[in-house]
Amino acid sequence: MDRPFTRAARTAALLALLAALVSHGPAAGRGRGRAAAEAPYDLVITNARVVDGSGNPWFRADVAVRGGVVARVGRVSPAGAKRVVDARGRVLAPGFIDVHAHVENIYELPDAENFVRMGVTTLVTGNCGGSAVDVGRFLGRASESPLAVNLATLVGHNSVRREVFGSANRAPTPEELEKMKALVEQAMRDGAVGLSTGLIYVPGSYAKTDEVVELARVAARHGGLYATHMRSEGQEVADAIRESIEIGEKAGLPVQISHFKISAKKLWGQSETTLGLVREARRRGQQVTVDQYAYAASSTSLDSRLPGWVEEGGREEGKKRIADPAQHARIVREMKESLKRAGFKDFSHAVVASYRTKPEYNGKTIAEITKLARGKADLGSQIEQVLEMYSAGGAAMVYHSMGEDDVRRIMREPFTMIASDSGVRRFGEGVPHPRGYGNNARVLGLYVRDLKLVTLEDAVRKMTSLPAQTFSLRDRGLVREGMAADLVLFDEAQVSDPSTFADPHKYAAGFSLVVVNGEVVLEEGRPTGARPGRALRRAAAEPPQQAGG
Ligand SMILES: [Zn+2]
Repeated sequence: MDRPFTRAARTAALLALLAALVSHGPAAGRGRGRAAAEAPYDLVITNARVVDGSGNPWFRADVAVRGGVVARVGRVSPAGAKRVVDARGRVLAPGFIDVHAHVENIYELPDAENFVRMGVTTLVTGNCGGSAVDVGRFLGRASESPLAVNLATLVGHNSVRREVFGSANRAPTPEELEKMKALVEQAMRDGAVGLSTGLIYVPGSYAKTDEVVELARVAARHGGLYATHMRSEGQEVADAIRESIEIGEKAGLPVQISHFKISAKKLWGQSETTLGLVREARRRGQQVTVDQYAYAASSTSLDSRLPGWVEEGGREEGKKRIADPAQHARIVREMKESLKRAGFKDFSHAVVASYRTKPEYNGKTIAEITKLARGKADLGSQIEQVLEMYSAGGAAMVYHSMGEDDVRRIMREPFTMIASDSGVRRFGEGVPHPRGYGNNARVLGLYVRDLKLVTLEDAVRKMTSLPAQTFSLRDRGLVREGMAADLVLFDEAQVSDPSTFADPHKYAAGFSLVVVNGEVVLEEGRPTGARPGRALRRAAAEPPQQAGG
């Protein structure tokens, strides 16, 4: 349907070119005052139902792109345009901005196909405390080794802490704290959009609130935000939200709570209370927002199931503790208690996504694996199996630990963004969480069209202008004249997420055209190989007024 040149457009383009050659010669156009305004459009999308990212009801318009930006929204003559796409029957929205990605390895997979195929045009990485420490170098690579999508990053507390004093279970010395602050300072100068923490992961979990406040103050000075994978998303989730808000309050910067959820079965239904804490902070005038992926299962490491103290000093130290009988008994006891407190009877909700040592375990639950490996699957045996797999290098996991009602209540909240918490997928590798292939499509297909939980306009807002506003990506997230031309065209009736937990390597359906900075990266549902993505650096904050010179 989307032939890049309709016959009429091609003819018109040729005529325009001939006219220009005849009247002015080949280079004459550039010198004229109104040359830019008269240059042909690079792309005109006609007859679109525009959902512009603001949350307003859709409107009918043509959208013209020139020089990487949206040049015109309204009635546009496609004559002379280099490329014309008839969008009849489909929705045109701003490219989706996924503010919670883990794509530190994106330069190995620059086409980011799993994201592009579900309409994502901008990724924010460096989440959950893990980022490149040298943000300048990380973002700088985008100019030598181009990407299909735009890329922004946070600077991660865990990465900075590990760089300065490894995985020691203690507070930093004053000198170490200064070194950490200097690294955050440099990262912010290099364009990081803020500071992230992962307070369930070693070594971030060893940090007290004050340490995070100190670093967040540095990000605040540069106009950054604080994005957090909180200390708890289960039993102590309310305290963890309070801590996040306190950090924002003391450091004076906006707070983004990452992958907002209730992950203890015992607390299912409590999202009303936890959302209430966020609403209350906002009523007091504090900027707090959240993001969410549209699934009732999470995905993280196997390591995170072990008590934090086991991992002090790294995996080798952890293995020694597991091998020591007294410490072993304590680990088993604490793991049993933690499961029980969360309301799970065993690890049958825990599925292996990727286990290098024995890939045949991928896609199976810990209970199933224990039965296979040990001939029995009581809780004690399951814990031994987990410890063995930790010692063999650990695994990536999927945890079916949330309630659908909480997922839906969180999605309806106006301050909730849609974000995948995913990496760039290698097609066919492992059994990863399906969110990396289907997150945006699932929201548009299942929650908007089928369940009517949120309107199309609101869902698009949660994927575009809300993340752009929150992460200071000022020229993106809306279909408006002058904004960067990141655009996505999809069929509202066809959009779907065939990727499942059992069979995740399936691309999202229903997306026909994706444009990044004015260049087409997906056409008729297929990647074009174009890599027009840019590194997006936080715009420098206004320098504070200084007395004297
Ligand atoms: Zn996280």
